[in-house]
Amino acid sequence: MSGFVQLRRDKRSPQRDLGAFLPTCRAEMDARGWSELDVLIVTGDAYVDHPSFGAAIIGRALEQRGLRVGVVAQPRWDVPDELLVMGAPRLFVGVTAGNMDSMLNRLTAQKKLRSEDQYSPDGKIDSRPNRASIVYANLCRQAFPGVPIVLGGIEASLRRIVHYDYWEDHVRRSILLDSKADLLIFGMGERPVREVSERMRALVGSGLSPREAMKSLRDVRGTAFVLRKGEWESREPSRYVRDGQVVILPRFEELRDLSGPEAKRRFAEMSRAFQFETNPGNGRPLLQPHGHEAVYLNPPAFPLTEAEMDELYDAPYTRTPHWSYGGARIPAFETIKHSIVTMRGCFGGCAFCSITEHEGRAIQSRSEESILREVRAMQRAADAIGFKGVLSDLGGPTANMYKMTCRTDEIERACRKLSCVHPGICENLVTDHGPLLSLMKRVREEPGIKRVMIASGVRYDLADQGVRGGKFIEDLARHHTGGQLSVAPEHNEDRVLQKMKKPGIGAYERFAERFACASDAAGKEQYLVPYFISGHPGSTLADMISLAQYLKARGMRPRQVQDFIPTPMSMATSMHVTGIDPLTMTAVHTVTDLREKKLHKALLLYWDQEHHDLAREALRKAGRLDLIGTGPSALVPPPPRAAPVARAGAKAREGLRGRR
Ligand code: SF4
Repeated sequence: MSGFVQLRRDKRSPQRDLGAFLPTCRAEMDARGWSELDVLIVTGDAYVDHPSFGAAIIGRALEQRGLRVGVVAQPRWDVPDELLVMGAPRLFVGVTAGNMDSMLNRLTAQKKLRSEDQYSPDGKIDSRPNRASIVYANLCRQAFPGVPIVLGGIEASLRRIVHYDYWEDHVRRSILLDSKADLLIFGMGERPVREVSERMRALVGSGLSPREAMKSLRDVRGTAFVLRKGEWESREPSRYVRDGQVVILPRFEELRDLSGPEAKRRFAEMSRAFQFETNPGNGRPLLQPHGHEAVYLNPPAFPLTEAEMDELYDAPYTRTPHWSYGGARIPAFETIKHSIVTMRGCFGGCAFCSITEHEGRAIQSRSEESILREVRAMQRAADAIGFKGVLSDLGGPTANMYKMTCRTDEIERACRKLSCVHPGICENLVTDHGPLLSLMKRVREEPGIKRVMIASGVRYDLADQGVRGGKFIEDLARHHTGGQLSVAPEHNEDRVLQKMKKPGIGAYERFAERFACASDAAGKEQYLVPYFISGHPGSTLADMISLAQYLKARGMRPRQVQDFIPTPMSMATSMHVTGIDPLTMTAVHTVTDLREKKLHKALLLYWDQEHHDLAREALRKAGRLDLIGTGPSALVPPPPRAAPVARAGAKAREGLRGRR
């Protein structure tokens, strides 16, 4: 378990600027002249005061509204002692598992322990519990009886309704019920957490107890809570029905055992219904019964405006891990410390990805001025973060959606589509790359900046769209690629790409050609690094063989293959567990056996000797012995002949048999 509080005590020094970070101990509260906190944030990640870390950006967002916020990072979870170092907060405790779901953070697609925790000092893997939101919430209840608990972060957000847990291979109820939290904030939390905090401050100031005040907050967008017996309609929703303005989802009891076809169908219906209520412009409240209780979800929060995004990123972040870590390496921080987030959200709606569900479909961009202010802040912090003028990334969930919007707000508010780019690019999408080109130019011309890389994934079907799409590829190749550029075609087979909600492979090939031309014109030798997913719903063994043949024919040797992980609430997870595509309600092929998943992955690593045994097994299983051999069309060589020693041993054994 964690001993970071002890570490903080040991490393404390009187020379430190104790007011630079949000307080983590009494000394830092004293430095700010605070006798108590309004809000305490408990997080499963190390405390890094950088806007890419959830606890930091939420803490700073509240600080900007005059709230006194403290942070306890990665506390021990056997006893509540480390939660108590700053006393009970006046309004509520905010609990987050961290930037990743704690199960995904700990276990691989093969359900094996990961070698490193990206969000912990020195990558230590025992710094947070499994299901951290639930464990911390229980701990907070012990530490602070009577103080409301608010869950936030991606783990809570994506487990807010009944969901499938891949690592447990089980359907779980809403995390609100398991954690017994008073409120859950889903999606990007700044707007709802500010509204909750400000209303709580007023209500508690007027004499209500924090619990009473929290209980009265029933209408905040982007929040969910539990209705107890008698608080919701007694009428039993036996089928998925739209009940006035509230969409009633199938109850937990209908879904928890997915062994039968009816339960699977209901689970798929739930996934579908949920997806169609994620646009804040027209999404309705959801209600999902669990026994005598029900989880009620308000519609999603509205996206942040440009001014609100700027305000958030203008907060006085130190841009470093808390000094108490004594310079320990925090892997995720090392990855992002020289990068800048320009926007959030994604209108791609890929089936395997939950960014759209969590960050929203509307793109929320910062202004150029705000981004340039951050570049200058990085230069001022150069010594602390080792910044030498090379920006490692300028982007967000996608490299090239900066400031792209629907044609009008009115159309966007009314839209019920799940993606702006699938099955084709929507005619209402403004695909102008002009704002991004202008931003790229201004940042690379900023005094003191030597290189600006774009490492976020490029949405290649958009890259040549609009009047300035071609120019984007040219500038990307000439100025912003350091030899290799990551793109994610994911598969080659149209049927599979349809299930993934990705563009056809032709779009990737067109981009690859244009990127190669642009690199030649810039006099640079550089390559695309394509990413692929194995084991995705819809992909059969034959499809994986087709993909391996496609790769081999083009001399492509992927080094990174993502074995599909069914994370909570994605559309692909729903397909994985039910065998039904929730959008069409038709059957879909799935790979659920771990060995089978390995075979799928091994085919894409056909070039790597380490995977040849598994690839041969896959080919034998598919009846494709023709692809095992030494000819030009073979994917893998035949198994090596038995070594001479072994043959000698075999002969000796034969001899023994003969003598008997
Ligand atoms: S109308 Fe088209 S561009 Fe606008 S939000 Fe809907 S899908 Fe996206």
